[in-house]
Amino acid sequence: MDYIDPHLLQSDQLKNLFVLLKKKGYDIIGPTVRDRAVVLDSLADPEDLPVGYRDRHAPGMYRLENVNDDTCFSYVVGLESWKKYLYPAYQKLLTVQRTKTAFTVEPVENKPKKFAALGMRPCELKALAIQDTVFTGGEIKDTGYMNRRHDVFIVAVNCTTPGSNCFCTSMKTGPKADAGYDLALTEVKDGNEHYFVTETGSPAGADIVTALKLKQAGDDAIKLAQKKLFEASASMESKLDTVELKAALEKNFDNPDWETIASRCLACGNCTMVCPTCFCTTMQDDTALDGSSAGRLRLWDSCHNIEFSYIHGGSIRNSGMSRYRQWVMHKLAYWVDQFGTFGCVGCGRCITWCPVGIDITATARQITGPKTS
Ligand code: SF4
Ligand code: SF4
Repeated sequence: MDYIDPHLLQSDQLKNLFVLLKKKGYDIIGPTVRDRAVVLDSLADPEDLPVGYRDRHAPGMYRLENVNDDTCFSYVVGLESWKKYLYPAYQKLLTVQRTKTAFTVEPVENKPKKFAALGMRPCELKALAIQDTVFTGGEIKDTGYMNRRHDVFIVAVNCTTPGSNCFCTSMKTGPKADAGYDLALTEVKDGNEHYFVTETGSPAGADIVTALKLKQAGDDAIKLAQKKLFEASASMESKLDTVELKAALEKNFDNPDWETIASRCLACGNCTMVCPTCFCTTMQDDTALDGSSAGRLRLWDSCHNIEFSYIHGGSIRNSGMSRYRQWVMHKLAYWVDQFGTFGCVGCGRCITWCPVGIDITATARQITGPKTS
């Protein structure tokens, strides 16, 4: 876990970072506490961060606790991911207006305000890279995504206190960010000292470091940050063996344990909504009652919905088992064929927010492991 050209951002300089980013025209989006959960929202200043909060995760369980310290990033991840901003759940694509003799079709203006994503976790950076590939890596580009993604300034924050459902070390996505950021911070709280070892990942990030007049980080500060990240890595409880995982899952397509596991699944779709890489959508046309106008919407959908695989006359995946299996197989097998990586970054959200606590790592182990009966 090397640090390249690290600087020190003292905790009381965080407000200067906010001021500077705003001066550069960025809306600052980041974690904050609402309704007893960490959510993403517009932040006015560092006090809006989840200062002194820690979250506990287990399958089907989330609790936010105030531990009364002044750390800003001791929580793990909230239920929302950054796709909320780059790939909104509800997107108007076009509007149709009836005129006296015909109708006009108007595309929706799509000039989003540029924003700084503060607090993006290393696994979320990898999820962003995956969505970049999905939306912009092929012949047909998603222009809405590209417009929103274009000006995002990323301040990543490395994870020093992973949660019980995190398995980023298995997916090689964390706990330290290795690319894709403008700035990456590691928070260190040591007695009265509270600072962020700050790495620079782009010329825009370097400009911020220069403008804030940050000092070079000394050896002691770097060693403490490294120690925290090693400890985070070593303390990761949840694991997934990814060696030969794709082949093993494909070999077990007809394993009867799919039925056993999926018998608990409610097909609620929570796992797909919270997943930072899931991207399935449906189209909906809304028409005014008087017939004067109509709009075409793109909405998040889920492969757990029976209608999702509806093709002229019926759904391809009728049973809950076939839909649950499809989701897991897509994340951990088919995605590799489509996009060259797993579709899972090990953030653990689908485990935390599954109302019946189904754990994708346990599923993969059960399906691919030796049979117990
Ligand atoms: S499948 Fe689950 S653990 Fe993997 S990225 Fe999606 S929400 Fe996170
Ligand atoms: S696995 Fe859990 S979260 Fe996903 S659809 Fe089934 S019940 Fe809902």
